[in-house]
Amino acid sequence: MDMNAMRGQRVAIVGGGLAGIAAAEALSRFPFEIHLFEAKRSLGGRAGAYRDSDHPSLIDRCQHVAMGCCTNFLGLCERLDLKSCFRRDTKLHFIDREGRVHPFSGSSWLPAPLHLASAFRRQKYLSRPDQKRIAAALWEMAPPSALKKYHNYKMYDWLKEQFQSEEAISRFWEIVLVSALGAPLSEVSFSASRKVFVDGFLRNRQAYQIYVPRIPLQDVFDVQAAQRLGEKGVQFHRQTTVRQVAYFNSRFNVRVGQGGEGTYENFIAAVPWHQSPKLFSTVLKNLIPKLDNVDEIDSSPISSVHLWLDSPLTKLPHAVLLDRTSQWVFNHGPRQLKDTTGYYYQVVISASQDLAGIKQEELVRKVLAELVSAFHVPQSPYLLDQQVVTEKQAVFSATPDLERLRPSQGTILPGLALAGDWTKTGWPSTMEGAVRSGYLAAEAILRKYGYHQPVMDADLPTSLLSKMLWGLSNNDDSR
Ligand SMILES: Cc1cc2nc3c(=O)[nH]c(=O)nc-3n(C[C@H](O)[C@H](O)[C@H](O)COP(=O)(O)OP(=O)(O)OC[C@H]3O[C@@H](n4cnc5c(N)ncnc54)[C@H](O)[C@@H]3O)c2cc1C
Repeated sequence: MDMNAMRGQRVAIVGGGLAGIAAAEALSRFPFEIHLFEAKRSLGGRAGAYRDSDHPSLIDRCQHVAMGCCTNFLGLCERLDLKSCFRRDTKLHFIDREGRVHPFSGSSWLPAPLHLASAFRRQKYLSRPDQKRIAAALWEMAPPSALKKYHNYKMYDWLKEQFQSEEAISRFWEIVLVSALGAPLSEVSFSASRKVFVDGFLRNRQAYQIYVPRIPLQDVFDVQAAQRLGEKGVQFHRQTTVRQVAYFNSRFNVRVGQGGEGTYENFIAAVPWHQSPKLFSTVLKNLIPKLDNVDEIDSSPISSVHLWLDSPLTKLPHAVLLDRTSQWVFNHGPRQLKDTTGYYYQVVISASQDLAGIKQEELVRKVLAELVSAFHVPQSPYLLDQQVVTEKQAVFSATPDLERLRPSQGTILPGLALAGDWTKTGWPSTMEGAVRSGYLAAEAILRKYGYHQPVMDADLPTSLLSKMLWGLSNNDDSR
């Protein structure tokens, strides 16, 4: 490796989402001159927030959470000193159709996968026969050999083959997988579904814990992360759309919005799949054949219903709602509105394509009625304010075709790399996938300078028991 060869070499990163931020963070450990271009006013990309004149504080477009298995996202937060922006919750709550609350938390001493066994048995909304069949299906899916055996399967077909009842599918499998993989079980692949369960619940006892932001996402990424990266020398160009990149004389020529341009020795495109092809000149596009197929990647919408009420509904910080349109509810407590205080709740509905025909007021009414019944509130609270945000291309769907369509971060042209949650990381459309992609893109740039060490963080270790039961290892092919 030649640090001197890196000194002063310019890197353009296009896209200030988690992928671009992670690539900038990794490369800022080396003596590059780094320029990060972001079309919008603020960094964070899909993990962003907005302002509304009736609300003094920023509003996250949609609630984001990470899990304990998101080691690269958490590593990024550690390195940028963002850990205090997140709260770690070890207890989840499931609320059944009758409004009964079923807490779910792992043992603090039993190894994975036993750490969740008694919490699972306490989920009384699943009948005993369903629980037994779910356990048998988890046992069948866990060994790495299952990947080969069922590689062609869609998850719903696999579940039916494993004798899962419709109740078990909707109350157990769907609840976890639809929000993680962004599509109905009839569309998602067995292998992506297996990864969620193995990495999130079966390998390590910390993996299922969730990290919830304490402050608006924009403050986390646009303010705090940007400040730390700025201190490391990263230069930000906000509200600067990159129109096109071309390649001349071993340099990347980057043309921006108002007609300006600059040349860089290295270039990372960290924009979403549906915006990637148009960034590149024809010559560069020909060097990345998979860009021709990105329109085959299916997008999936997520809706978030924001409610400000005149009285509180619950003391729970968040809950998973079963057998309802509302999937997750997050309780943000009292918040200042223009001239009053409201209790702020955010309800997340993943794979929300079926809501397309429903009017916003109707959806708000339905969601509020579901919350009132779930939390047994005697009198419906008064709605002080409401907002519905639907991101049509929120995430990509983890269909069986997806892995074939995802490009690697490195390209055949040294100094040119792709990043973004949609590139080949093995992960679904998540902040963790985005951060991994940024780190892998940084690794591709570093290889040009003879640096071949990984910059990615290690996964959580697999427990000895999970290794013995199923032959899982720290680097088996499900990762
Ligand atoms: C509603 C919703 C809920 C979600 N919930 C979760 C969750 O709970 N947990 C989780 O882990 N993940 C969640 N995700 C997914 C997560 O937000 C994404 O996977 C991740 O943020 C993607 O990061 P990225 O950097 O790959 O892409 P993006 O965040 O899309 O960033 C790309 C950036 O590139 C910029 N850009 C595009 N074109 C140009 C150009 N030509 N010039 C300059 N800039 C450009 C864009 O403005 C954008 O800021 C959710 C996503 C949505 C939408």
